[in-house]
Amino acid sequence: MAARGGSFQAEVLSRTGLSPHLLRLELGGPSLSGFVSTGIVDEWVGLVVPGQYANRFYTVRAWDGAVLTLDVVLHEHGLVTEWAAGDCVGDTVTITAPKGSFSLPSEARWVYLVGDLTALPALARAAEELPPGLPVRIWAEAPAPLGGYFPAGLEERGDLVWAGPGGDGTSRLAALVEGLPWPDDPGYFWMAGESSQMRAIRSFLLRERRLPHSAYDVMGYWRAQTAGSRRAAESVTRS
Ligand SMILES: Cc1cc2nc3c(=O)[nH]c(=O)nc-3n(C[C@H](O)[C@H](O)[C@H](O)COP(=O)(O)OP(=O)(O)OC[C@H]3O[C@@H](n4cnc5c(N)ncnc54)[C@H](O)[C@@H]3O)c2cc1C
Repeated sequence: MAARGGSFQAEVLSRTGLSPHLLRLELGGPSLSGFVSTGIVDEWVGLVVPGQYANRFYTVRAWDGAVLTLDVVLHEHGLVTEWAAGDCVGDTVTITAPKGSFSLPSEARWVYLVGDLTALPALARAAEELPPGLPVRIWAEAPAPLGGYFPAGLEERGDLVWAGPGGDGTSRLAALVEGLPWPDDPGYFWMAGESSQMRAIRSFLLRERRLPHSAYDVMGYWRAQTAGSRRAAESVTRS
């Protein structure tokens, strides 16, 4: 049964661990027959898990007309993380209509893609679906490389580089991007990950690289908890 407002009910068909931190969920069911992909490589949906009203966003890793694949990062705590860490196969979830942001300018001669674990689904889908012949280079930040996650040949050609986060687990993508070699001809830069890193990169692209807005898309996918927000949450829990 289709839900209200362009959203869909879906059943969790399978749950497969891709790494200790990344889980693949396959969703299906009759309501998804109305799901239409935007075709945009970074398209995402809102996911509402059982017993919740708030949604969280997840990239459509794949949609084959019947099965919708989402790859979910398991982090310390969170609505979806805690639900997905349990036995969720057979559960019914709500999916919102997909939206996308990736917008390749017609004059782009190359594409740079950068992201942390939450961005891997979009990075991999872009690597699969961007026009053949367009040079694509990827920098992926993950606790350890995920063999087989990206199309074969990318890593061997030097077009996929795995980077580890900092020793304390925090993202170092901003520093990584500031050290990249930048081609002279026009291209397109897409990046997603922890919000404070993304803010730093937007400012770098604007002030240092002086890229036009149409030449990049930098998306904050999640917000790290600061010491201040942790203390506030703890005092609410204690009171
Ligand atoms: C357009 C878009 C596409 C996205 N695609 C994906 C995707 O394909 N796969 C994916 O896993 N995520 C994706 N994300 C990120 C995901 O929506 C967030 O990480 C979300 O907060 C996770 O929800 P949760 O219920 O597990 O945790 P929440 O309840 O939202 O957060 C609980 C706590 O966990 C912390 N937290 C949230 N996310 C992370 C994280 N990744 N690592 C460490 N700490 C975290 C927060 O600081 C918060 O304090 C996407 C986000 C956007 C905006």
